[in-house]
Formats: sequence, structure tokens, C-alpha cells
Amino acid sequence: MKTVVHNELHFGGRSLLRENAYTRLLLQRLRRHESMPAEQLQELGRQYLYRSLQRAVRLPAYRALGRDFAAHEAEQVLRAFPLVDKMTLLRAPELYYPHGGRRLPWQSVGKTSGTTGTPLSVVRSCQSVLMEQAFIRRHWAWAGFGPGLTRATLRGDMVADVAQTRPPFWFWNRYERQLLLSARHLSEPYIDAIMARLAQARPYLLQAYPSTAYTLALYLAKRGRRLPIPYVFTASEPMYPHQRELILDRFGCRIMDMYGMAERVAFATECEYGALHVNPDYGHVEIVDERGRPTADVGFVVGTSYHNLAMPLVRYRLSDRTRWKPGRCACGRAFPMIEPVSGKFEDAITGSDGQAVSPSVLTFAFKGVEHIDKSQVAQVGAAQWEIRLVPDVRFSELDREKLLRNVRQLVDAHVAVRVVLTSELPNTAMGKFRWVVNEMR
Ligand SMILES: [Zn+2]
Repeated sequence: MKTVVHNELHFGGRSLLRENAYTRLLLQRLRRHESMPAEQLQELGRQYLYRSLQRAVRLPAYRALGRDFAAHEAEQVLRAFPLVDKMTLLRAPELYYPHGGRRLPWQSVGKTSGTTGTPLSVVRSCQSVLMEQAFIRRHWAWAGFGPGLTRATLRGDMVADVAQTRPPFWFWNRYERQLLLSARHLSEPYIDAIMARLAQARPYLLQAYPSTAYTLALYLAKRGRRLPIPYVFTASEPMYPHQRELILDRFGCRIMDMYGMAERVAFATECEYGALHVNPDYGHVEIVDERGRPTADVGFVVGTSYHNLAMPLVRYRLSDRTRWKPGRCACGRAFPMIEPVSGKFEDAITGSDGQAVSPSVLTFAFKGVEHIDKSQVAQVGAAQWEIRLVPDVRFSELDREKLLRNVRQLVDAHVAVRVVLTSELPNTAMGKFRWVVNEMR
């Protein structure tokens, strides 16, 4: 009962903030950008960039750059800003945080998940919080989703106590027609109850992490079942081919992936035609090589926030890697395209020759291997991997042999592999899961 009351207040309150006349107006405005030609979008971006940079030069780190520049010079001025990253901010908060790091009562604070190290806090303005929602809703609109339709959410939200063993493992947020499911209860004893509730809700859209949607799809596959949901919106983790394949198969859906981060400096959304579009009205995006120079090859994503004037992050380097994709998309939007964003650079793992091994290649190791509930591939030393498995009851020595044979034949013939069986592979505090991890450093 306590949880239900808490949920009503928490999600009800959040809905009031997210769904009102003002946020609808923001969404309408954003939707107009979709039909703008490239030059007009560039001009719009320039205006946003100018506004952010004018605010940034008030921070101690950038004061020396001065405020004496005009809107048409914004891109040129941007080049004078050095690249910064999470460590830069953690080491010298007094230079990069507004008001010497003191939060004002109307500002909120966002935290990075800290999956690859220390979490970072970012001060957010109210406006930026509302804008974020508008951008997410614009992406949903690409799937024809809007008010009156039902969505289900299977992410990190705490909707039921972890210790709870009886339904409900969900909460019906009537303010938004949203069924929130507890990702912490995605396991054998509770899964049938969760599936039944989800089927009853008949959502138009499922919001999930790739790993939670995949886990649900695995349980459906185990039961020989399919659960039709028109659209699955994924975000917050890289999506691997084996996950995409099974999600498509079990939900008969279209997947619309989204790339964003707690620092909110860049945002890319997958369209109806499967292209990942950088949203040019969200932030200024660059792709740079190891030395920080622009590259047409695979490089690091660097973003500058447009909408968080409380704490503008300028040329903020992320550890995500991707590449520009030239050409135009059949969807008609003049939003630039990028290739799918790979996992965190820190989590890349290397093979016996010291070269990085793509996670897509790693999935070959699991080809035709059955009886596994969950897996993780970790680099534990130079040319040494550990493949961790949560086996189901039918897992046998044959499955293990097949896995090892696949690694030798399809992935890397010389890397040392140890298969470790375990009863649990924990998620992060936010309920996310890292399928590939590098534990060598
Ligand atoms: Zn497109």
C-alpha cells in the first residue's frame, strides 16, 4: 500500500510536469524543425549555439574568451573552446559549475550512472528538463504515438520493492496511460504475472533498455510465445545484433533506438527508415579522433548543450564512438545521420592480437548455444576473456563446448577463454546491464 501511494504521488506529479499546455507547445515547435531544409536548421543551430556560448563565457573556465562576439560567429568561437570530459569537470568543479557549484532551489541535478567510473552531477534548469521531454515525445511521434495511446515502460524505475514476491510488479500510471513494469522482477517466479499484465495493457509502445526488452523476449521464446507490440523504443545501452533480432522476432515490432546521455549534450534518434539521426536542434555534435581533430572515420562523440543554460557544457567529449553517415534519408528529414553508437570506449575488449573486437563479432560465440539465461563477456587480462553464464537447468557440457568452439572458429582462435557459471549477473544501480566489460584496467 505504501508503494502504491508513493507511486501515485511520484508518477502523477511527474506527469503533471510533463503533460501540459506548455510542453505541448514545445513539442509543436520541435515538430516544425523536421521539415526545415538543412540551411535553415544550421541557422537555427547557430542561434542556439550562440545563446549557450554567451552563457558559458560567464563560467570561470571560459571567462578569458570574452563575450564580445556575434551570433554569426558562434561556430568560429566554438573552436576556441578546448575539449573537456568528465574528468575535467570532476577535477576542477569550481571552473565549470555555476555559482561555484552551489545549486539554486529551482534547479535540478542529474547524475551520470557511473557505469564506467565516478558519477558526475550536472545542474539542470527547469526549461532543460521540459525540453528533454519534448525531444523524447518528438521521437515517439515518429512512430505515430501521442496522447490517448498506451505505453509500457520497462526501465530502471523503482515501481515495486525488490523484496516483493507477490504481484503487482507494476504500476498503472493513469495520468499518462503508462504501465510501469519492475525490471527487477524479470525472473522466472514473476515473469508470467508480468507477461499477463503487459498483454492485458496492449501497449502501442514499449520503452525499454535493450537488455530488459531482450530478457523479456528470451522468456517469451522459452515459452514459445509472442507478444505483439507495434513499437519498442530502446535507449541508455548499446544494442547488440542478437538482442535486436530476438526483440523483433518476439514482439513483431519496429525498434526505434535512441542515443542520449545524462550530460545531455547530444541526442540521436532512429527514424522509420532505420537511420540514426542526430537532432540538430538539441546540441552541437562533432566526431573527433584520439587527438581531438574532426574525423570522417570512427571517432569520439563531442557535444555542446543547447538547452541547459543553467550549466552549459561546451565541447564535452564522451567515450561513445561512432561515424558520420553521408547521404540523405528516405524519411526526408535533413537531420545528419550517424552509424549506431558502439559501447563505451572503456568497455571495448581486445583479442589475442591486441586489436579491439566488435561486440557484434562477439555475439557469434553464442550462435546456436542454448540453455543460457544471461551472459556477459569480460576481459580479465591481455588476451584473456571470461565468459560468465547464468545457465538454465538444461545447460550441459555440450553447450559449453559449443560456445568455446564458436569462439575459436568465429571470433578469435588464440584468445584464452574461461567459462564461469554463476547464479546471478547483477545490473547496475539503475537497472542497466553491461554485456561487454573490460576489467583489465
Ligand atoms: Zn530518416
